[in-house]
Amino acid sequence: MRTIGLLLCMAAALSARTLVVVTAHADDFSIFAGGTVAKLIGEGYTGYLIRVTDDEKDGVATAPESSLRNGRELNDAARILGIKEVVSLNVKNDEMDPMSGTELMERLMLHIRRLKPDIVMTFDPWAAYEENPDHIKTGRAVVHACWMAQIDRFHPEQIRAGLTPHYVNELYLWSRGPHVVNKVVDVTATIDRKIEAVRAHRGMIRDPKILDELREKSRQIGELHGMKYAELFHHMDSIGTGSGDKYKALEVLPAGEKR
Ligand SMILES: [Zn+2]
Repeated sequence: MRTIGLLLCMAAALSARTLVVVTAHADDFSIFAGGTVAKLIGEGYTGYLIRVTDDEKDGVATAPESSLRNGRELNDAARILGIKEVVSLNVKNDEMDPMSGTELMERLMLHIRRLKPDIVMTFDPWAAYEENPDHIKTGRAVVHACWMAQIDRFHPEQIRAGLTPHYVNELYLWSRGPHVVNKVVDVTATIDRKIEAVRAHRGMIRDPKILDELREKSRQIGELHGMKYAELFHHMDSIGTGSGDKYKALEVLPAGEKR
């Protein structure tokens, strides 16, 4: 019995894995990674979502009304994908520049040290031709926060307040423009939930054709890689060390190759 108890404890420890998704805007995470988020949560990850901006400029209503509506619909999308908790940083939409990168990194680090994710997902800050400043600034701050969260001398007041340094194992970076792709995730089992989650953003996704286009894009990516539906990422592991696959995989994944 003691052995069985020990095995159960080990199984519980192994399954207690955490995913943190950081989205610049309410709809980004479900559009770019909704299938993978639902898949990882289905495999046992506990999912958390951090929304960086207040989304006040996306919608047809006034800024405060749009922000509130987009926040409500974000919660609906997160629930559909199985996310446990949503945190909003409420940085002003499209006006992030007055906020220093260091301040944004500090706020993200606090949640990384609090939630202790195994995987963090966000925008690829090295992607080409990204025009949206919120996407660029969010991706950069998240990657930097993951690096710095493990260093106890960086924002030691967080350590004094009871948090501990944290090492993030993996980054999944998405992009809408060209970027280095080294991971293809089969989302055939979760594509319907992804589309349902994107549909929840009725204030931001006002043209239903976008849902069909998203499904078709995922099908085309899947077809290239021997899957029915798929999502693409740049994957990095061993963040904060000189090892892992983060530097060796700097080539576009050839069609048909799975990793
Ligand atoms: Zn966006």
